[in-house]
Amino acid sequence: MQGTTHRRLPPTLWLGLLSATLLAACGGSTATPAGAAATNTASTKPNVVIMFADDLGYGDLGSFGHPYIRTPNIDTLAAEGQRWTDFYVAAPVCSPSRAALLTGRLPVRSGLYGNAIRVFFPDEPGGFPESEVTLAEALKEHGYATGMFGKWHLGDAPHALPTRHGFDEWVGVPYSNDMNWVGEPDFEALVKLNMSGDLEQRAAIYARRAAKYAAPQKEHFEAPLFFSKVTSDGFEDSVEQPTDQTLLTQRATSAAIDFIQRHADEPFFLYLPYSMPHTPLFRSEAFAGRSLGGRYGDVVEEIDASVGAVRDALAQADVLENTLIVFTSDNGPWLFMREEGGVSGLLRDGKGTTFEGGVRVPTVFNWPGTITPDVVSDLGSAMDLFSTVMTLVGGDAESATDGLDLSPRLLGTAPSPRNEMPYYRGGALYAYRKGPWKMHFITEGAYGLAPAKQEHDVPQLFHLQRDPAERFDVAADHPEVVADIQAAVAVHRAGLTIAPSLFDARLAALMTPQ
Ligand code: MG
Repeated sequence: MQGTTHRRLPPTLWLGLLSATLLAACGGSTATPAGAAATNTASTKPNVVIMFADDLGYGDLGSFGHPYIRTPNIDTLAAEGQRWTDFYVAAPVCSPSRAALLTGRLPVRSGLYGNAIRVFFPDEPGGFPESEVTLAEALKEHGYATGMFGKWHLGDAPHALPTRHGFDEWVGVPYSNDMNWVGEPDFEALVKLNMSGDLEQRAAIYARRAAKYAAPQKEHFEAPLFFSKVTSDGFEDSVEQPTDQTLLTQRATSAAIDFIQRHADEPFFLYLPYSMPHTPLFRSEAFAGRSLGGRYGDVVEEIDASVGAVRDALAQADVLENTLIVFTSDNGPWLFMREEGGVSGLLRDGKGTTFEGGVRVPTVFNWPGTITPDVVSDLGSAMDLFSTVMTLVGGDAESATDGLDLSPRLLGTAPSPRNEMPYYRGGALYAYRKGPWKMHFITEGAYGLAPAKQEHDVPQLFHLQRDPAERFDVAADHPEVVADIQAAVAVHRAGLTIAPSLFDARLAALMTPQ
């Protein structure tokens, strides 16, 4: 936790940053983040707000093409900031994606992934390990107040909670909002049922669950809402269970605004990982029936209102022009949920898969007066936020990280340094992107949906700019591109030691005869 794993910013990057300051100054811009980095005083350090929706698809925002769901607040952030068209999460499901955002590291490097168990479940004995450094911890070393309001999903044991990993305070659900069913078997009972081979009973359970997802009632679920904070002599934790899920977005918003008001005179990091629009869908009364997009639309529109309320609070606290705002999603839409899930727009497939719809997420950066308004089609990743933020606050930019510093592109001084993106499903590399080209080694649908798993002896190749929906395999026409990406993959693999899965460890324990 002493930042010993952080590497110093290379001198060349410092030079780039300083010239960014000069360029911005010549353009008559207001105080710049680079200026803040150069002077490195508490008063000019920018605030950082990361808003992270759950299972929001690439096509679910007005600014990303949805015809019916109205998202004026996020769209305004996009119009006045940067809308990134090619921004990726590191995994197509919740827990590993969140781990990668907070650590700047690939889940396979940190061990925060699973092959049999894809995400963390309730009563997880392990959880987020002490050895990993979160962005909140890194920012704390630079004098930041850190608050988190929303879903964690990196372990619910006391030692794994956000307040043990850099956040001063946290209000939120510890895992997905569908993980505490009333009157249904819990995770361990389901694992044992699966092991028993009783397919009939398993099918009955899943059918009951499907009906409840499709018509969610509060009484079907008993999700816990945690209240946790760091105190002078330890931690103070309490739990409200069941919590009223119709109020989750509203309460996270109120807590975030309260946090902004309390910390307006010092640098702060606000992490706002919404529990929604993960199914079961719940929204407050004011949003019920409001959207043309049905219950899913209602939920997204409530998130949009939350984004607007947070922005207003920043403006009222007079810190808007000193605040980097990022809005993105943890993975693609849960297509298995049909009308209760989102859409990936023109992208192929959704959550759980390594097609574009699973991992390319709608992303907006905003910082009035500092970020050059633009639509950006350079590559970026949620893994890059760690390095980017640390550079912008004048800190140590990189650790043993998989992230890159996107600040030059945000400031409009240079292209994104990211030109490649690996696509992992669990511990396996399914696909790899270099420039506009994406190569699939393995393709597979998710949650029982097509296509069936297929390992490609001859990899499939798609040009994502000409064919964003991954429809036309052009590998045979471009053997030189196939060879080039295979070489890039070899370099990637050589630079990576895959850690054992922390998620699957639980399964091994369950399967060991007592
Ligand atoms: Mg998710």
